[in-house]
Order: sequence, then C-alpha cells, then structure tokens
Amino acid sequence: MNEITRITAPPRPPKPSAIGARPIAAGEAWPLAKRLWRDYLHTHRNTLLLTLVAVAFVAASTSLYPLIINWAFDSFAAKSTWAITTLPFLILVASCGKAASLYSQVALTQRVVTRVETDMQKDLYGHLVSADLAQIAAESPAAWTQRFTTDLLYVRLALTRVTGVLVRDGLTIVALFATMIYLDWVLSLIAGVILPLALIPVSRIGKRLRRVSRSTQEETGGMASLTSETFAAARVVKTYRLEDYLGRRADRVFESLRTLRLNAALQKGRMEPVLEALGGVAVTVILLVIGWRILSGDSTVGEFSGFLGALLIAAQPIRALGNLSAVVQEGFAALSRYYAVLDTRPTVTDRPGAVAVALGPDPVRFEGVTFGYRPGASALHGVAFEAAGGATTAIVGRSGAGKSTIFNLIPRLYEPSKGRILIGDTDIGAMTIDSLRSQIAVVSQDVVLFNDTVAANIALGREGASRADIEAAAHLAGAHDFIAQHAEGYDASVGERGGNFSGGERQRIALARAFLKDAPILLLDEATSALDAESEAAVRAALARLATGRTTLVIAHRLATVRAAEKIIVLDAGRIAETGTHAELVAADGLYARFHRLQLAED
Ligand code: ADP
Repeated sequence: MNEITRITAPPRPPKPSAIGARPIAAGEAWPLAKRLWRDYLHTHRNTLLLTLVAVAFVAASTSLYPLIINWAFDSFAAKSTWAITTLPFLILVASCGKAASLYSQVALTQRVVTRVETDMQKDLYGHLVSADLAQIAAESPAAWTQRFTTDLLYVRLALTRVTGVLVRDGLTIVALFATMIYLDWVLSLIAGVILPLALIPVSRIGKRLRRVSRSTQEETGGMASLTSETFAAARVVKTYRLEDYLGRRADRVFESLRTLRLNAALQKGRMEPVLEALGGVAVTVILLVIGWRILSGDSTVGEFSGFLGALLIAAQPIRALGNLSAVVQEGFAALSRYYAVLDTRPTVTDRPGAVAVALGPDPVRFEGVTFGYRPGASALHGVAFEAAGGATTAIVGRSGAGKSTIFNLIPRLYEPSKGRILIGDTDIGAMTIDSLRSQIAVVSQDVVLFNDTVAANIALGREGASRADIEAAAHLAGAHDFIAQHAEGYDASVGERGGNFSGGERQRIALARAFLKDAPILLLDEATSALDAESEAAVRAALARLATGRTTLVIAHRLATVRAAEKIIVLDAGRIAETGTHAELVAADGLYARFHRLQLAED
C-alpha cells in the first residue's frame, strides 16, 4: 500500500435536523405574514380578490340551504303546489352555484399558492448556490432537500387553508349564523353560547397535537439524514462492517418515530369523539328548547327544521376552523426557517475596491494564517510558507492536520481570522472573488461529474469552449481514446455521479475539465483510492502534464509525488512542522522521515 495517510474515520452520526424546532409566537407571526405578502403575494392581489368573491359566493349559497328548508317545510305544511314543484329546483340552482364557486375558489387559490411555492424554491436555491460554504456545510444535504420539499409544502398548505378554511368557512359560519338569527334569535343565542364552549376542548387537543407533530417533523428530518447517509456511504458501510451499528441506530430512530406517530394518531382520534359528544349535547339542549317553543306556539316546524339544518351544516366548517391553527402554526414555523436561511448573508464577498487581477504562475504565500471552523478551535495556527511560482509544492501530514483547510482558504471559501494570503504580490482579499476563483483549478479526490454528457462535463471548465477545445483538453488528460471508443463519443452520458465510467476514466474526465480551465494556480488533492496500474499511470502522466508551468499545491499521499515536488511542507495539528526537499527532510530525521520509513516498510 503506497499511501502516506489514509482516511480511517467512520462516518459521523447525522446531526438532527433543525426542522420544526420551535413554535412561532404571535408577535413573530405578523411580520412574517407581512413579509410573505410583500415578497410573494401582493403581485397576485387581483387573483386573490377574485378568490374572495368566489369564497363569498360559497358562503352565501351555503347559508341559503336552511332558508330553503324552512320555506319548504312551511309551504309543504300549507300544501302549496307551487312550492312543491319549484323549491327542489331552487336547491339545485343553489348547489350548482356553490359547486361552481367552490371550483373557482380552488383553481384560483392553487394558481397563486403553487406559484408562491415555486418562487420560494427558486429564491432558496438561488440563495444557497451562492451562499458561503460555511452556511451550506452547516446542514446535511438531506436536511437541505427537506427545506425545498417539506418546509415549502407546509407554507403552501397553510396558504391554501387560510383561503379555504379561514376565509371560506369563517364567512360560511357568519352567514349561517345570520340565517339562524333570522329564523329564531332565542335559539341562536343559545347556540352562540354553546358553540364557543365546544372549541375549548378542541383547541386543547389541537395544542397537544401540534407539539407531537413538531417532534415528528424533527425525527423525520433525522431519519432522512440517516437513510441518505447510509445509502450514499454504502461502500464504507459494507467495508467497515457498520451494518449492525447503523441498524441499531436506525431502529432507535424508527421506534421513536412510531411512538410519536401513534401519539399523534391518538390525539387526532380523540377529536372526533369529543366533537360527536359535544354535538349530541348541543342537539339535546336545542331539541328541548324547540319542543317547548313549538308547544307554546312561538315557533313553527319549518323554522325548527331550517335551524337544525343550519346547525348541522355549520358543524363541518367549525371543525375545520378548530384544526386550522395547527396547520397555520406549521406554516409559520416553516416560513420563519425559510427567511432565516435567506437572511444569512454571505460573509465572503468582494471587499470595497476589490480589483480583477490577471494572475500568472505566481508564488502563493501564507503569512501567519490562523483559521478555525468554529470559535475556539483552530484548524491552522500561524501558518507561513511560500509555494514557489510555476513549481510543485507538496503538503503532507496526518488526517486532520489541516491540509484541506489550506486548500479551502486559497480560493477564499473561508476567510482566515488572522494573517493573509498573497498570490504574487496581491492579497487575495483585495481581488474580486470572480477573478480569483477563475484562475484557480481544483482537482480533488472525490471527482464531481454531473449527470450530463462527457462534453458538457468537460465544458464546465470554461464557458463558451468549442468542441475542438474540449477534445484538445481531453487529449491532454489522456481521456480522448476511451471517450472516442464509446459509441456516442463525447455525447455519451456520464450517468448519475459518473457511474457509466470507471474510477480512472472519471478522474481523467475531471482532469480534462482542469486542462480546459487552464488556470495558472492548481490545487491538487491526490486520490487515495487505488486505481488499476494502467489507469494510475495514465492519470499520473496527465497530472504531470497539468502541473507543468503552473503553481501547483498538492496534498500528497503517494511517495512518488512527494519525491518529485520541489518543496515539501509537513503539517502537524495545524502548524508547519518542517519544510524542505525530500532529501533535506529525510536527512533532518524528523516527522517526515518517520512517515517515510513507515511508507517504505509498507511498500
Ligand atoms: P486534513 O485535510 O489534513 O485531513 P482538514 O484541513 O480537513 O485536515 O481539517 C483540519 C481540522 O479542521 C480538523 O480538526 C477537522 O476536524 C477540522 N475541520 C475540517 N473541516 C471542518 C468543517 N467543515 N467544520 C468543522 N471543522 C472542520
């Protein structure tokens, strides 16, 4: 095994997702709602106004039913033939009117809410692709995916319910209540006292339900990270025999999800019986009063039927209103998480007066660079070195020594907390990010290919590259031959994560991209995974060609690479332990010499 360092850490346990972490206080909800209106809703105000018209129509036609029932019973009692032939059709007209306005309401609302959801997805994506690496790295890919799906789904559901339930059912209840007062104000008064009482147990159950559903969302987030991580790392899981360990962890997550789901279902299950019993109480009281009023001659059977009809029709919208707050709460919680992401402004930005600098193969110099990913934990302490222009500098050290951190700082993915980094004589902080990054090529061990054609993947190296440029780059990378052998040549799809090509071929496609970019500064993270001898020789030759004439920093794992480097920097726990050529460092008999002896023993 010819590696100096090997990555031996098993995958870290997934972080629980922050989703559903906190209920939203009323004081917070209002500004969020205003912001949502301003950012996404107010451009649709005409459609929303039309929706309101449709909703009002629904409410009005619903409240007509009890009146028609009342009328029907009274006229049937009077044996009016006109009423017997006309009234059924009146019901037909009212219900057709209601049906049409119901559909218009749904169609208009969905037109708006799906647009809002899509706009929010686009904005979130737009923000995240240009966000600081630190913000993106703070959450797992699965948790980010959930932001786009579940979180925005909650916002959409809440918006749908607000028009469908709050406005429509609210108006319907008001209209029905007006009808009830018209039919019998004494009974309406009694119903007006009983109905709000019914809402007390309903809202209690609702509160408990909300708590449970929030924890369920959290656990679901955890499960999403766990499963996606397990399957993404299937190779590691198998080679490290992590099946039992992961199985036990997954069992715990699945079991606690079951407990939460059961709890939520039981809370929901209570709602119906409670409402049923309360409905029974209400009908009993009203029947008693009605019986007495009919006997005393204050009320007719028609009024009574209309009234009871109105009460029964009102039951469904009242129930829906009772459930509304949970959905709206979830919507607000999701909205607040959404804006929290959007409000995190990138800290790595162009400084005032930043200039676009044209670089050549200039030296890269670190001057007293200190940096930590988290406060209080430094990954680099006062690192100072110079990588000579146009030459290759190898960085070696144990895993966790800070090698990748040096690579993260050069294209300004993160900013040092102390010290500065210069390319040539210019502080990289004084350059525009665009000019800096366009002159640095990174070739890392985890090759990134997008599910597109070979040509498209190579072309990512330089915008507007012609087919001839792409083929020339592929030639230099030693990739042309195997691409040309493919039936579809450069138009062959690389497949998901480049799965249609072998490891060595994928690396050469990625190298072709770097050749096309033709950047003067090259950051090379040498692959640790073993390739077959032939592929390795091809990749090696291509790398040597790529490094020629550029300022190359290489995180070296192979002895041959280190030996060939003009200079070696040995990192240890974020500090530079030694620098020199291979011969000098072996002679110094320090950390590098120890690595070297180990390496020789392994070979
Ligand atoms: P190397 O490349 O030499 O293996 P790194 O530069 O990746 O080492 O890591 C240096 C130190 O910084 C390590 O202690 C590591 O745990 C820490 N570290 C690396 N990346 C992150 C990150 N994204 N967030 C927090 N700590 C990190």
